[in-house]
Amino acid sequence: MIHFENVTKVYPTQKRPALDGVSIDVDKGEFVFLVGPSGSGKSTFLRLVLKEEKPSQGRVHVAGKDLARLSNWKVPHLRRRIGCVFQDFRLLPNKNVFENVAFALEVIGKPRRFIRKVVPEVVELVGLEGKATRMPDELSGGEQQRVAIARAFVNRPQILLADEPTGNIDPATSIGIMKVLDRINRTGTTVVMATHDAAIVDSMRKRVIELEEGVVVRDQTRGIYGQAY
Ligand code: ADP
Ligand code: ADP
Repeated sequence: MIHFENVTKVYPTQKRPALDGVSIDVDKGEFVFLVGPSGSGKSTFLRLVLKEEKPSQGRVHVAGKDLARLSNWKVPHLRRRIGCVFQDFRLLPNKNVFENVAFALEVIGKPRRFIRKVVPEVVELVGLEGKATRMPDELSGGEQQRVAIARAFVNRPQILLADEPTGNIDPATSIGIMKVLDRINRTGTTVVMATHDAAIVDSMRKRVIELEEGVVVRDQTRGIYGQAY
């Protein structure tokens, strides 16, 4: 689903590569934690998957497509197949829960009848049934993140990218967020989550890829956050 072949990324203003000769394969349906200190290249990896950045060297394939050969007008179509969740939720403050999720379908021209059917299904999937008419500022941080996940997933993307999704959420609430991501993963969606959250990584026992200064220093199935050899 995601194939990086010897990928190096050097930003124009930087001397040191943000990613340095990275080769990673993520299969369809996998759940992967991307860990490593701040500045180790996690966000750069995610941006390359979305074709928000181009590699300086090497190849990136996503969902069977060589991104170097994907013309610019096809990039929106690629991004529709990839849901994104961020640390800061990024909800529309003047739309309620239903409208925030529906908006993701409206902008790609889905019919209203379809939207009315699928939005409540996804709102329920993330555990927010009964809260569809709440505004974001009436929700807890954990609930806001559930809305963001519903919005990212409502178009049934093949891949869900999550960048520190529990970074603004207390530990007890984070467990609930992980259950939602796990549920989404079980529908067959590939999940890649960048995180510093050791407790979460240790509790999930999923594949762990660790970056250090742009280099993969560990790739472990059913791994934990810290070293375990
Ligand atoms: P992480 O997500 O692990 O914190 P990043 O991918 O954001 O790491 O950053 C990796 C390196 O690339 C860092 O040294 C960072 O300063 C640099 N970097 C990230 N984005 C940019 C950018 N847009 N321009 C220049 N340098 C950047
Ligand atoms: P893609 O992003 O794959 O190109 P399209 O934009 O062609 O998708 O939309 C077609 C898909 O949208 C259908 O396969 C279906 O999943 C969904 N869809 C759109 N409208 C409806 C509808 N009224 N009822 C059910 N599914 C619908």
